[in-house]
Amino acid sequence: MIVSVPKETGPGETRVALVPEVAGRLAGSGVEVTVEAGAGAAAHHPDSDYVEAGAQVGDGFSGEVVAKVAPPSAEEIGRLGQGSVLVGFLQPLTAGDTVRALADAGVTSFAMEAIPRITRAQSMDALSSQATVSGYRAALIAAQELPRFFPMLTTAAGTVRPAKVLVLGAGVAGLQAIATARRLGAVVQAFDVRSAVKEQIESLGARFLELDMGLEDAEAAGGYARQLTEEEQAKQRDLLAVEIGKMDAVISTAAVPGRRAPLLVTEQAVRNMKPGSVIVDLAAETGGNCELTEPGQTVVREDVTIAGPLNLPASMPDHASSLYARNVQALLEVMVKEGELSLDFDDEVIAGACITRDGQIVHEGARAAAGVAA
Ligand code: NAD
Repeated sequence: MIVSVPKETGPGETRVALVPEVAGRLAGSGVEVTVEAGAGAAAHHPDSDYVEAGAQVGDGFSGEVVAKVAPPSAEEIGRLGQGSVLVGFLQPLTAGDTVRALADAGVTSFAMEAIPRITRAQSMDALSSQATVSGYRAALIAAQELPRFFPMLTTAAGTVRPAKVLVLGAGVAGLQAIATARRLGAVVQAFDVRSAVKEQIESLGARFLELDMGLEDAEAAGGYARQLTEEEQAKQRDLLAVEIGKMDAVISTAAVPGRRAPLLVTEQAVRNMKPGSVIVDLAAETGGNCELTEPGQTVVREDVTIAGPLNLPASMPDHASSLYARNVQALLEVMVKEGELSLDFDDEVIAGACITRDGQIVHEGARAAAGVAA
């Protein structure tokens, strides 16, 4: 069986779906890998490293399985043969047109973000591996943009107080942002609507910010947050505006799958912050947690720097690609038996991750996104 890896074509996409090390391991298990020339270049993996690991350089769309990072463009879907298998981030809950085109092209597609978040599939969890990169980078951006120190310093010229950082949303990215900000010496507080994360926040040496919202717990299926009601959201924003005013930096990561990011940081909250403070809004891609975020830009409003970075994992392509490639390898191990493609649709990982098959959209959330009646 051949897995092929095209060079990513999306703007600013530097990652590659398989790195040489993983290509070598797949070759050892009887799976051949063909990479398009230059596919790993932006992630600092030259073609020669792939060849040395036992892969070939050739047509990135020639394999029975095509492994990608970003959702395919219309042109890329045109290059996928009928009956071929595509693995990658597909944004099944929002990219209705892509999903419909994949079904029409007769592609059997698997979305990395739709892999069930069960214990057995942890090694395939690309949402987590890439969110880890985003959280780390977000804390570094906050430290870099802040005109003040993160750590407490005692110097001959006086004592510097540590920065106060608030992390909103303590999922995978938020927890990594907390850990990174703590390592840099900041005093960190964090808030989430799922009360289960309190312990995780505290285990990283941060404090759980208690907001008197009268909210029991907003955990929904799969460990994700549910959408708050309008009333709950308004109360949350008002209470947060006061707390945000006490912070040097806010790193916001709050998300609800398939929906616009919740608005947590109002213009008033920005105005409450000290001049020179920083907001890093990781939710910029899905509309932003801050009212003043401009996706893909770093702007200064009310003397507060507001960064809305897009695709942060692509800013650290070497490790982001290595982790992603291991996620893909783990998924391939479930798809391949004795060197042959063997898709068992009774397996909950295969069934859960499958978006299109036999010309149909088979994933419930993707059907809704594509406007297909149940
Ligand atoms: P996510 O990216 O969907 O959301 C980020 C965070 O934002 C979540 O913690 C969510 O609770 C929070 N949030 C949503 N609305 C909010 C609001 N109004 N205010 C404050 N915070 C808000 O989530 P994620 O990081 O992908 O994953 C969330 C959780 O899923 C994890 O922390 C974990 O518990 C679970 N998970 C389980 C597995 C597994 O079992 N294999 C793997 C990964 C994650």
